[in-house]
Amino acid sequence: MHVLVTGAAGFLGSHLTDRLLAEGHTVLGVDNFCTGSRENLAHLAAESRFRLFEWDICRPFPADFDPGPIKYVFNFASPASPAEYMRLAIETLTVGSIGTQNMLEFASLRQAGFLHASTSECYGDPLEHPQSEEYWGHVNPVGPRSVYDEGKRYAEALVMAYHRTRGVNTRLVRIFNTYGPRLAPSDGRVVSNFMMQALRGEPLTIYGDGNQTRSFCFVDDLIEGIVRLSRSGIHLPVNIGNPNEFTILDCAETVLEITGSKSQLCFEALPEDDPVRRQPDITRARKLLGWEPKIELKEGLTRSLDYFRSKLAL
Ligand code: UDP
Repeated sequence: MHVLVTGAAGFLGSHLTDRLLAEGHTVLGVDNFCTGSRENLAHLAAESRFRLFEWDICRPFPADFDPGPIKYVFNFASPASPAEYMRLAIETLTVGSIGTQNMLEFASLRQAGFLHASTSECYGDPLEHPQSEEYWGHVNPVGPRSVYDEGKRYAEALVMAYHRTRGVNTRLVRIFNTYGPRLAPSDGRVVSNFMMQALRGEPLTIYGDGNQTRSFCFVDDLIEGIVRLSRSGIHLPVNIGNPNEFTILDCAETVLEITGSKSQLCFEALPEDDPVRRQPDITRARKLLGWEPKIELKEGLTRSLDYFRSKLAL
């Protein structure tokens, strides 16, 4: 099958691309490199079934561009770490709205399947715990995170509208915190910050008191869930994430343990609207996809060590 992956040079897009290629598909990757990295795709330089088109999906593809007989679109293009989406605030809103609509039009014209990368941020700072797909969320529409949260929520509405009114064969995955090799070492996320700080012997920066929680999923587990969803007939959102919930302090301790680092902890201000807790209810994924994560935080961080070490010299 010929498949289009937007955001192919990103953390998740590049892992998804590898998985699709491993299954024998032909992949057209699209990325404008606003946050993606060429290094994430460097190993595919000699892969004849992979082609990269450098393009911003907020603009329709040029008239003379031949994407080939695309049968499935995975829409993963977006800045995704809080630091990056706040820096690229307007770009983030535009790719969630116009970029996503351009790709839905593309899929609709070709009768291609469409899977959109949505997010646990749709739940905002949740008042229900854990978060099931039925929960509508608690989002500040004008806060600093709103560019991502509302962009992704609007994109979900767009995807459902194209499904309902145009019959596009869509899927929505709500992705919870994910980590692993290729996470940009300086994107400001908690795992990348802690791993790099621990390896450098610098203090680990805990925002707030560190008692806020996240539920961390290793990237291989996440990609498996996404591939299963793409083959299912489920059009409503599906949470994919690891339900094991950790405080940020737990996460710091695990990083110190697996790196053997003697770094201290230092406490800094909690960013505005930082969600207090987050844990996916994955009943739907378990029942309908037969999926659940297998790799626990300590093992996943250990598997990511070599990658973060390789970034130390940079
Ligand atoms: N965080 C932290 N120190 C850091 C980076 C992040 O304590 O150096 C906290 C952040 O305040 C949040 C959690 O870790 O509560 C996860 O942050 P991240 O930016 O990875 O993603 P989020 O889940 O907020 O989108």
